[in-house]
Amino acid sequence: MLKVREEMREGCCWIIVNGGNIDIWDDPWIPSIPAMKPEKRDNGDHGTKKVKDLIIQGERRTPSTSTNNELPWKKYWSVRNIPPRIQMFGWRMLKNGLPVASNIKKHIQGINDDCRLCERHTECMEHLFLYCQLTQAVLFASPLSLRIGECPNLSVKDIIFMWLEEGGDYAKLGMGLCVLWAIWKGRNDVVFNKKKFNIREKDYWEPPEGEKIKINFDGAAGPKGFACGVIAREKRAKVQGCQNKIIDYCTAVEAEAYSAGLAVELGINKGFRDIILEGDSLNVINALRYKHYNSSWRIQNTISSIRDDLRKFNSVEFRIIRKNANNVAHNLASLAASTHTSNVWLSSPPLSIVHLIENEQYATS
Ligand SMILES: [Zn+2]
Repeated sequence: MLKVREEMREGCCWIIVNGGNIDIWDDPWIPSIPAMKPEKRDNGDHGTKKVKDLIIQGERRTPSTSTNNELPWKKYWSVRNIPPRIQMFGWRMLKNGLPVASNIKKHIQGINDDCRLCERHTECMEHLFLYCQLTQAVLFASPLSLRIGECPNLSVKDIIFMWLEEGGDYAKLGMGLCVLWAIWKGRNDVVFNKKKFNIREKDYWEPPEGEKIKINFDGAAGPKGFACGVIAREKRAKVQGCQNKIIDYCTAVEAEAYSAGLAVELGINKGFRDIILEGDSLNVINALRYKHYNSSWRIQNTISSIRDDLRKFNSVEFRIIRKNANNVAHNLASLAASTHTSNVWLSSPPLSIVHLIENEQYATS
């Protein structure tokens, strides 16, 4: 045994525990390279001696989107602008604690575990929330415009992890969880209430329901600065007034917040009681919707004065819409930005946007 020790040593390689006794340049410690040790550099600068010196203490690096990763729960629960029941729903998803068919089948043999939406695949978490063709249509139609088909092997946990890692105001996390929640509710309606799974591609403008007035708002940039545009319509899509206004010296998000303020101003001037405020800025909508939403300091004052004004209404609802469905408000803003004039049309809209309004009406009917 002692005789062959030297030969054995030739083929041996160290397994790194703390690297304290292993010399970087003289001991074999990297099994994947020839001689299992790095080649010495010519300049003779071999200051670092032990493998130990290469290990960053107290820091274990893990790939960010691995399914095996434990989610940073502390961070997850510290996010403030998500309604508690939606946050709880996210937690159940992450713990694989939702009663999707594949989970139930683990306990009850022989049940039908087909996807309730497409009836083509097994209903597991990943299929239901990411890969089902009906779900994908919802994810794409949502304000997040997610194309899951382009990233195979993504898990529900991965995607929530990615949203969480974005940090900032966690707008994507909040919106994403709401969309997944809507999918779950839609699926439950199919299972328990025999309803159809409706994909409402909100790629077009829709008139408000009942006696409510919907006011769309948007900001736009022009050669001389920003401007806002707002338009109010009732259930038959008839225009109830519109307005635009130039704003000097501001940023895009401020223009969006000012336009929400202008929408409220129009609503008050017209004496509307029940309104729906609809815009394409997730930041502004969330800031209005959630009291503790961590919005940009630039818009905090504007948001809080809008909130004060909202008390003058009987009811207020906030809705997010895709940019291309918010065309009329956007064009009103562009009009002000390009002509550098502000205007109010309390009954009929300016001629230059009449065709756009008709287009939206046409898309609706
Ligand atoms: Zn399916």
